[in-house]
Amino acid sequence: MIEKIKERLSKVTYPGFKRDIMSFNFVKDIQVQDEKAFIQIEIVSANKEVAKELQQGVEEALKDLNLKELKLEIKQPEPPKERSNSQSGKNIAPQIKNFIMISSGKGGVGKSTTSLNLAVSLAKMGKKVGLLDLDIYGPNIPRMLGLSEQRPEVIGTKIKPMQALGVHMMSMGVLIEQGQGLMWRGAMIMKAVEQLLTDVLWDELDVLILDMPPGTGDAQISVAQNIPITAGVCVSTPQMVSLDDSKRALDMFEKLHIPVAGVIENMSGFLCPDNGKEYEIFGKGGAVELAKDYKCEVLAQIPIEMSIREGSDSGKPVSFYLPESVSARRYQEAAEKIWNFIEKVNQEGGANNAAIQPVMNGKSACSS
Ligand code: ADP
Repeated sequence: MIEKIKERLSKVTYPGFKRDIMSFNFVKDIQVQDEKAFIQIEIVSANKEVAKELQQGVEEALKDLNLKELKLEIKQPEPPKERSNSQSGKNIAPQIKNFIMISSGKGGVGKSTTSLNLAVSLAKMGKKVGLLDLDIYGPNIPRMLGLSEQRPEVIGTKIKPMQALGVHMMSMGVLIEQGQGLMWRGAMIMKAVEQLLTDVLWDELDVLILDMPPGTGDAQISVAQNIPITAGVCVSTPQMVSLDDSKRALDMFEKLHIPVAGVIENMSGFLCPDNGKEYEIFGKGGAVELAKDYKCEVLAQIPIEMSIREGSDSGKPVSFYLPESVSARRYQEAAEKIWNFIEKVNQEGGANNAAIQPVMNGKSACSS
């Protein structure tokens, strides 16, 4: 019977994520006696809604086993009473003051382009900025920053970040061969994330921007467990299909206790290079509604602009090389809004997602 239960539980996904609770190693105990089952599950979220959703999922999955009794215990961490200072929670890269997580529901929406232009814009504001490209499926940042031909300097067992346009940068792409990322499994992703935070010689930084893999998964959980994220930013395109995916990214921020700075709507319209007019080819208002639903703001609406694509391909981001362009100005405004948000979060006590830590006793929630 225990095997049957395990098999059923391996089909129950953790709310907000695509992965199941067995492979996340959240199921801590299963006991069966006289067709009565006791199951203990330990999760990293303090959110009662997550526990409720999970309970329903487990009950549903075990229904056909016709158990006489099902005792389900879902252990959760204490909800954070007040925001802990970002330096007092777990931070495996304590020389970095703030972290921004850039997420999207799916790939190809312009998440890396946005991460890079925000990094350059923050650097232009005089901030000491790092950019960590964690997108294992498409680590494009080195090329977008004009660094694809360079290799980082290795000092002993540590790696020095590369630098361009005032941004300190490290990327999964520097560490793995092209295409190899597709074979990465959960535990490996989590280990790599930890190493990129601890084995890279990051300077003292005001902020590190994390360009996440698309969707919601191991990298996100790993990051949230190891560093306090001060601001979450969701990149979306205006089409309804993309907005639905973006909701999952925003739900994930909530479940990981990440303060949401807002949504950046990319490819929000088409900026015609001939007449300078902006055409709303995908309709309007989607991101505004989305932001309203999640009580955050639209940080910027970035049009489709030829110069953005050209800048990405040639390692010359618009925010640096075309600072007066419509898009560069909007990235700049977004960077200023995000910085204001970070200051507000810190004034209120700092990021608190690190508060999910103690429940795992320092162990990775996903090591299976
Ligand atoms: P993601 O990181 O979400 O997979 P990228 O940032 O790699 O997406 O962008 C995908 C492609 O779209 C790249 O070629 C990039 O240059 C292009 N792109 C992104 N945003 C824009 C935009 N606003 N205008 C024109 N091209 C864009």
